[in-house]
Amino acid sequence: MGQIQLNQVTKSFGDVQVIPPLDLTIEDGEFTVFVGPSGCGKSTLLRLIAGLEDITSGHIAIDGTDATDVPPAKRGLAMVFQSYALYPHMSVRKNIAFPMRMAGIDQAEQNRRIDAAAKALNLTDYLDRRPGQLSGGQRQRVAIGRAIVREPAAFLFDEPLSNLDAALRVGMRLEISEMHERLKTTMIYVTHDQVEAMTMADKIVVLRAGIVEQVGSPLELYQRPGNTFVAGFIGSPK
Ligand code: ADP
Ligand code: MG
Repeated sequence: MGQIQLNQVTKSFGDVQVIPPLDLTIEDGEFTVFVGPSGCGKSTLLRLIAGLEDITSGHIAIDGTDATDVPPAKRGLAMVFQSYALYPHMSVRKNIAFPMRMAGIDQAEQNRRIDAAAKALNLTDYLDRRPGQLSGGQRQRVAIGRAIVREPAAFLFDEPLSNLDAALRVGMRLEISEMHERLKTTMIYVTHDQVEAMTMADKIVVLRAGIVEQVGSPLELYQRPGNTFVAGFIGSPK
């Protein structure tokens, strides 16, 4: 389960409203991409969904239950950041185990989930290494592994590949898409990269200045852009 509904959600920082009233439904199991230029509110929106920022007004529901006042750790969502945020002094295994240890999951179950995640992400041979001994792509996989073991209702990715070089990025896009195929878990993926949006999304949400300009499949946006902004943004090469 992992349907996420935003109902008249707004966000202001001081006097500045960066998200005007916004309605949006993310369907269970869908790979949804938030795309838009830098500063349009993609990260803010993701952080509101994760509960890392308080919304100024409106409501968020997860699987039909109001989650507006539910703290981030209790929302059942896993956020994967662009900075890897791994613990440098811990092995890969310990990094992946960390959120389960915090949640009090027993050792046998921890090991089962770590082995499954490591297998899914091709990390089995790296479990005893430290982050410093891994490539950028491998570190990103560990960060994803740490999210997978929590068995979240949805994964939230904020430009997870922006620190990787172009070749690695293409490979990781495929890996994340394959992971979605396998897990069929709701994923929200933030990027300013149109190519990433067009190749990975079931559904794209085009944002401009905190406003949803259009929601649709890559094909719909390509064939029937709702306005010149969407047409220009989707059509412009990276
Ligand atoms: P994006 O991720 O699309 O690049 P952000 O969500 O980071 O955009 O930012 C949206 C707007 O909100 C920007 O104008 C940014 O300056 C502003 N903003 C984001 N976080 C804060 C904050 N903590 N305090 C003040 N303004 C912020
Ligand atoms: Mg951002």
